Amino acid sequence: MLLEKRLRSKLPDVGTTIFTKMSALAEEHEALNLAQGFPEFDCSPDLQRLVDKYVRSGKNQYAPMPGALRLREAIAKKTFEASGTEYHPVREITITSGATEALFVAISTVVHPGDEVIVFEPAYDSYVPAIELSGGIPVFVTLDPQYDSIDWEAVRTRITGKTRAIVINTPHNPTGKVWSASDLQALAALAEAHDLTVVSDEVYEYIVFDGREHVSVASVPSLAERSFVCGSFGKTFHTTGWKLGFCLAPAYLTTEFRKIHQFLVFSVVTPFQFAVAEYLSEPEHYLTLSAFYQRKRDLFNEAIGDIGFILKPSEGSFFQNVSYANLSDENDLALAERLTREAGVASIPLSAFYGRETDFKTLRFCFAKHDDTLLKAAGLLKKVCW
Ligand code: PMP
Ligand code: GLN
Repeated sequence: MLLEKRLRSKLPDVGTTIFTKMSALAEEHEALNLAQGFPEFDCSPDLQRLVDKYVRSGKNQYAPMPGALRLREAIAKKTFEASGTEYHPVREITITSGATEALFVAISTVVHPGDEVIVFEPAYDSYVPAIELSGGIPVFVTLDPQYDSIDWEAVRTRITGKTRAIVINTPHNPTGKVWSASDLQALAALAEAHDLTVVSDEVYEYIVFDGREHVSVASVPSLAERSFVCGSFGKTFHTTGWKLGFCLAPAYLTTEFRKIHQFLVFSVVTPFQFAVAEYLSEPEHYLTLSAFYQRKRDLFNEAIGDIGFILKPSEGSFFQNVSYANLSDENDLALAERLTREAGVASIPLSAFYGRETDFKTLRFCFAKHDDTLLKAAGLLKKVCW
């Protein structure tokens, strides 16, 4: 068909995401799915009851375009308590359809054709397509494969007169790296010197381990004034299927952000916003998450301890990266597929998070699973013929 031939893809290099592929393969082989990052367990019954309450009490029509004010106020309060920075609920906070929408809209707000955007790789997969759909050019800075430091000098050398924005993610998916206060100071110095907008993906803000603290760009005044901070309740309340997220940004950025948000989705699911607003009033509901996941990380790591993997540091998020360089020469995609088929355990190959071909012989396992599942997965991995 002529029409089909004439259709020019806007994302010619994009296929089905690795998360969808590995989840489908896991299903086909009835494998334990430690691949796609989502909790195996349900959200709290109290939170479910709150949704029920608001559905039954008629909160079923469009929410206001920027989100239910009650939820924006609850987010302003928790942000102030954590960072000391005040975001105005009316002018500076927008409720979005997951962090994915927040990130997409933030990037679309600032990137014009020809603009360059710094992206650290390995990177979560939604940043680059968003940049490209706005005609922007992703410029990659590769994180040290050992994940122990960020080379700020390398970042500086990638900045040109065309650099418009920088995308960061802490705690980091896929590596589990948590940025330090000095990383954020280095970022602030560069962003100020080159007048960059920062898009900060902080969806794992409440999952940090071993006494570390999440340092939000919101807590650094010189960054907060030039940043979009994108968050999600999917990770925090085990509700990835609700696709409820938010974006904090100073009013001059939020005004432009909302122009796009209003024509992308207009507003997002109403009763869930009221439920989450009420649930947020008890900080214990999110401040206990780090301990909950740290125990799971440790349980999983101990169980896979004698396989021969080299465990990379997991400082936050719900991911554990392991190098199998000692055990096999296979490339990471081939191995992830073989383990799914033969061992019955699905993971994500780290190479999927790079814009170019790489093979660090590393797999990412998601430990947001029941203890039984983690122990069973470790048992199955031990039986593999390497
Ligand atoms: N950023 C990162 C780093 C993620 O891992 C995810 C999803 N797991 C998202 C953004 C998307 O969040 P949401 O599901 O709220 O759209
Ligand atoms: N963020 C999840 C992960 O990293 C997946 C989200 C998705 O499937 N798009 O596994």
